[in-house]
Amino acid sequence: MAGEVRDVVIVGSGPAGLTAAIYTARANLRPLVIEGEPSSTSDQPGGQLMLTTEVENFPGFPEGIMGPELMVRFREQAERFGAEFLTAKATGVDFSRQPFEVSVGDVVQRARAVIVSTGAQSLMLGLEAEPRLLGHGLSTCATCDGFFFRGQHIAVVGGGDSAVEEATFLTKFADKVTMIHRRDSLRASKIMRERAHANPKIEFLWNTQVIDLLGEETLEGAVVRDVVSGETSTLPVTGMFVAIGHRPNTDLFKGVLDMEDNGYLVTAPGSSTTNVPGVFACGDVQDHTYRQAITAAGSGCMAAIDCERWLEAQGHG
Ligand code: NAP
Repeated sequence: MAGEVRDVVIVGSGPAGLTAAIYTARANLRPLVIEGEPSSTSDQPGGQLMLTTEVENFPGFPEGIMGPELMVRFREQAERFGAEFLTAKATGVDFSRQPFEVSVGDVVQRARAVIVSTGAQSLMLGLEAEPRLLGHGLSTCATCDGFFFRGQHIAVVGGGDSAVEEATFLTKFADKVTMIHRRDSLRASKIMRERAHANPKIEFLWNTQVIDLLGEETLEGAVVRDVVSGETSTLPVTGMFVAIGHRPNTDLFKGVLDMEDNGYLVTAPGSSTTNVPGVFACGDVQDHTYRQAITAAGSGCMAAIDCERWLEAQGHG
């Protein structure tokens, strides 16, 4: 089944996709946002902010705002200007000819331009308690949540650059940061390793895996196992940051859009254009450096403006 040809379809509805929706809707491009399906992962309408609690660093909200509420407001703002929403997951794309096609099951959406804003997800440890405690002591973003852990003992899981960066940043707030790493040496670059080792607030638990998290409403401790001796013990932490990497949601675009080795979409420097003219990418799906709601929103705005100009140049403005 194929319907009308739209000017633009936006795939993904985090801060990037919804900002692109606000801008393209105000430009009278009547965007359709394929927003994802409700789920317990970040791959859902609203994206990663749906898994957070309070957001204190989004400009314009001096009192802070809950992540899910912020995304409801983004969505309402896009709807106000005529953006339409499809609560479903895109299941396929065909960007080989015009109009482009984005499938949702058997239904094909056709559009002259597509904005990809499918985001990324933090890799998690796979523990049963993780969904319950995420946003309640358990976090995947030190920049977002570090401030809440003043004077506490917290843990960071991972041994790469992200983990060291998070641990170092968190020492600004926490009294003690324990890095829990499954091996006996850090994967992080030399300068980051040296920084971590020199920081008196950081201590290391080597050859250690987290096997359970304690606490019903909020994190009260982590059960860890020494992978060499097999011994288990409890670490009395009130905060834990999982920093074992991220995965961009780009399976849909394999072999279609240019990607880096780690799966992130490639966009031209200073722009949102991909290797396919008329397909734009914004937000965490193409950014593994900043990963903030505000930077994602900014790049969503860029994608909308790039898209509008491209459509106009094709005679569809
Ligand atoms: P990464 O380099 O892939 O490191 C992931 C870390 O998590 C590794 O130490 C890994 O252990 C551990 N890990 C993975 N799965 C695990 C599991 N299930 N349980 C416990 N531990 C697990 O990821 P990243 O640190 O996010 O960095 C990603 C890329 O961004 C890298 O290229 C990095 O250099 C770059 N980056 C750079 C900076 C910077 O330069 N400022 C900052 C952040 C990130 P193993 O070591 O045993 O594999």
